[in-house]
Amino acid sequence: MSLKKATYQNINYCLRCGSKLELKADHENKIRPQCSNCGWKFYKNPIPASTCIILNKAKELLIIKRKFEPESGKWALPSGYVEIDQNPEDTAQAEMLEETGLEGKVIEFLGYYPDFSPLYEKVITFGFLMEITGGRLQAGDDASEACYVPLAEIQDLAFASHNYFVSKIKEKIVSE
Ligand SMILES: [Zn+2]
Repeated sequence: MSLKKATYQNINYCLRCGSKLELKADHENKIRPQCSNCGWKFYKNPIPASTCIILNKAKELLIIKRKFEPESGKWALPSGYVEIDQNPEDTAQAEMLEETGLEGKVIEFLGYYPDFSPLYEKVITFGFLMEITGGRLQAGDDASEACYVPLAEIQDLAFASHNYFVSKIKEKIVSE
């Protein structure tokens, strides 16, 4: 896949010094915006996110109702963007606690799903199967509600990535 000029057409100013950026070929001959003043280059990358699959003993799935945009008011899995001081597993654990009140740990990496994002063009979401280790179920932070729903009754969740991980967990449970 080649980097197209159009990929960077809305990137104009250096994040470091504020000077105008110019589209120029870098040392690998890829076109990227570069600052003529301080030399800083802009690399546009997908944004990493983590999402949690949390099941109770009855194999019901914990879902949350989103409080904020994007997809405010829709049901989704607990999820969030990976912060600079986190690994994807840390994000999964933190989002689980913030949005559901439950403490947990990662027991299985379920893979990743690349998705279009209206804000960031592309988000790569990592899916984690979580085990509940403590806490008390209570919606918080970005979630207005949190509840368990039988897997068979889960309809369309807010994001394609979440639907993908739900289908993966359904397959996994059937094969167990
Ligand atoms: Zn600069």
